[in-house]
Amino acid sequence: MYDTENETRVPGETVGRKKLASRFNYSLPSNQIGECWGVSAHPNGESIVSEGVFEGKTLSDLWKNERHLFGDYADATFPLLIKVLDAADDLSVQVHPNDFQAQDLEGVPYGKTECWYVVEAEEGAELIIGHTAKSKRELSDHIENGKWDQLLSRQLVTKGDFIFVPSGTVHAIGKGIMILETQQSSDTTYRLYDFDRTDSMGETRELHLEKAITVTTIPQEPVIPEMTAQKVNKGYIKRLVKVSEFNVYHVQAKSGFELQAINRFRALTILTGKGRIGQLEVNAGDHLMLTRGTSYQVEGELEWIMSDVPFPTSI
Ligand code: ZN
Repeated sequence: MYDTENETRVPGETVGRKKLASRFNYSLPSNQIGECWGVSAHPNGESIVSEGVFEGKTLSDLWKNERHLFGDYADATFPLLIKVLDAADDLSVQVHPNDFQAQDLEGVPYGKTECWYVVEAEEGAELIIGHTAKSKRELSDHIENGKWDQLLSRQLVTKGDFIFVPSGTVHAIGKGIMILETQQSSDTTYRLYDFDRTDSMGETRELHLEKAITVTTIPQEPVIPEMTAQKVNKGYIKRLVKVSEFNVYHVQAKSGFELQAINRFRALTILTGKGRIGQLEVNAGDHLMLTRGTSYQVEGELEWIMSDVPFPTSI
């Protein structure tokens, strides 16, 4: 489900279903793949710089050897992973560990706190976020007895919604939803439920119930981040979430907007429009890495999701 040769600016070859193709102009290798790893230094799908002095280098290579581009981070591993995900069917119900659990259970550096900006949603589309169990016993009983309707909390979504999914949250993206996902650099997923679906061979997908139950937060209250909106010259900046793992912003910009320098890198995905950020020509679907300490003038009319990782990071 991932592209092994993503590029940081121009999307790679192996991405997309129909909406990814029509909206972001990603090419379509098959009908099955609906996930683009836009900015990634994860070994399961590395981004490669598409132009400039570092053209051809992987993001993890730059993180290792050119750390000054990013900021004063002590982490051995690049912390973020940005995806565009188009759910043509209900995705399986899953949960992710936090950093300590991921290190303990899997020997990997990061757990997975993630968040979703809804780029498109079909009428009536809903996702699963959270559960109703009040104790581990109740969670296990409901799972064992298949009481999924009772256990899983559902939420209707529309375009522009933002959902914060801390590690330990039971979740699933529903059919007809396309999201821009900002998450920790992790591929550790414990599957709780796959709607009892079977593949063409009659096989069900593996579940990871024991680990899933171990890492699930109980009880689970929805976490609604406090958003702030700031009107600036020629645009606005809305902060969607501010946590130790990442800050995520939704930005609308017109010609004359200035993206001011900060002391750390930023990852950026263009949602709509076309124009320029600094010298770079950009279009919807492009993923950019902005190096630390650089400011940029915007030309054209653009909407993007942007993220950065505060110091010190959680590791
Ligand atoms: Zn997830």
